[in-house]
Amino acid sequence: MNIEEFREFGKASVDYIADYFENIRNVEVISNVEPGYLKNELPEKVPDIGEPWQQVLQDVDKLIIPGFTHWHSPHFHAYFPTANSFPGVVGELFLSGLGSLSKNWETNPACVELEVRMVDWLGKILGLPEEFLNSSNGPGGGVIQNAASESTLVGLLTGKHRTIRNVLRDNANLSEGKIMFKLVAYTSKESNSSVEKAGLLASVPMRLLPTDKHGSLRGHTLEEAIKKDKESGLIPCCVVATLGTTGTCAFDNLEELAKICSREGIWLHVDAAYAGAAFACPEYRYLMKGVEDVDSFNFNPHKWMLVNSDCSVMWFKNTKDVEKAFKVKSTLPKIPTFEPEIEHWQIPTSRRFRALKVWFVLRTYGVEGIQRHIRKQIGLAKFFEELALNDDRFEVCTSSMGLVCFRLKGEDRLTQNLLDRISRRKKIFLMPYYFGDSFSIRFVICSRFTEKEDILFAWREITSQLGDGAPTNDALREKWLKNEEEKRKNVTGDFLNTLPAGINENVK
Ligand code: PLP
Repeated sequence: MNIEEFREFGKASVDYIADYFENIRNVEVISNVEPGYLKNELPEKVPDIGEPWQQVLQDVDKLIIPGFTHWHSPHFHAYFPTANSFPGVVGELFLSGLGSLSKNWETNPACVELEVRMVDWLGKILGLPEEFLNSSNGPGGGVIQNAASESTLVGLLTGKHRTIRNVLRDNANLSEGKIMFKLVAYTSKESNSSVEKAGLLASVPMRLLPTDKHGSLRGHTLEEAIKKDKESGLIPCCVVATLGTTGTCAFDNLEELAKICSREGIWLHVDAAYAGAAFACPEYRYLMKGVEDVDSFNFNPHKWMLVNSDCSVMWFKNTKDVEKAFKVKSTLPKIPTFEPEIEHWQIPTSRRFRALKVWFVLRTYGVEGIQRHIRKQIGLAKFFEELALNDDRFEVCTSSMGLVCFRLKGEDRLTQNLLDRISRRKKIFLMPYYFGDSFSIRFVICSRFTEKEDILFAWREITSQLGDGAPTNDALREKWLKNEEEKRKNVTGDFLNTLPAGINENVK
């Protein structure tokens, strides 16, 4: 492909993506394809002769889009948001277009220096203590990792290494192998599965501790578990606390956990993958009280802060710890000319120029734009919560940030059947969650295109599928659904006026 063809292909692709977003509200959020749908559509081997790009682009439309889940549809309410914004898309285009990788400062000064500054910008947006920033005079600092899962693994490995060093220092008669065999780590049973996986990868048993009834890991639970393990001769090395659990967006009690970890010399890593972005709004920072005492902290701008994947930021209070754990002599020798040497704070040898897309997003949105995005999405979730609370048939199990867990009153079977019917219709995308012992449905504000009318659309869809008295005959059922939808429209019309002041403003 020559430069002229690249220009044409690139422009046509940007137009394609712009059209895609222009029509996103009209596409069905989940596809209708059956497993294996692509098998017969794609040749089994690479074409012998290269094809024109127009053909490739046509096949995106013909083959890929039909099997695509539209994560940015305003009707996507599953999982968590996966960030997307136009400056983020262009940032990705640039970092891939310029095609530069960096290993250390010498291999690409702009890449390393922009990253060092962007991580500080992000730390300041969240209100992290000064000592975590690259610009602090101390040993703290941060770096962009690929994912929250990877950050958790890095935190755990660093904590494991620090514990081994400390135990060896105090017990000259113990060998490293013997210590490793005794290490143990803790998290809550509500933490993301990636935390348990980090334990597997690091060969450290990860205890999944019970939470309180709000899904929060409390200090006394951790304290009891540590005491029991120490009595059995085990050595606690790491705690992974979650700020914003995947199931219900619950917050562990960081202040309580941090006190215990500081006293016991246990590495405390914070996984704030989704909810960390909310700390851009000062009114939510009380949820990270105790953060000054943690050892590492991670959140994903690629979830809720408009930076396209991949972009997961991790800060250390003392980067010397991670360097001691990870630093090895480079294959190709170099003379260090720049501090910090962020290449030692990560698993891969090289890094993508992710800082570029962070720069594009933060400059075009500004702090105010980021805050508006977060507050708007929380306002929309509140709006959904009010709809559920004002309907006698439903109960709200939890509501936190942009996530509401709700269920039908009564037996689980009713909510399961409801979700089943909604899922089969594919108008909105929802996921189940067991809240305590009860089956519930998670409703998350994910797309940045979601507006108030989309919440009403979702609510009408949900309530139209309650099933009570719905005819089984297809034609009659359609008529009945239309009728139900009309009824629901009227109810929500009146209902809007009864909402507490502030909610409507939040979602404008
Ligand atoms: N931690 C939490 C709390 C999450 O909700 C998720 C994903 O949703 C993860 C970690 C995993 O994130 P990543 O895909 O960046 O590894």
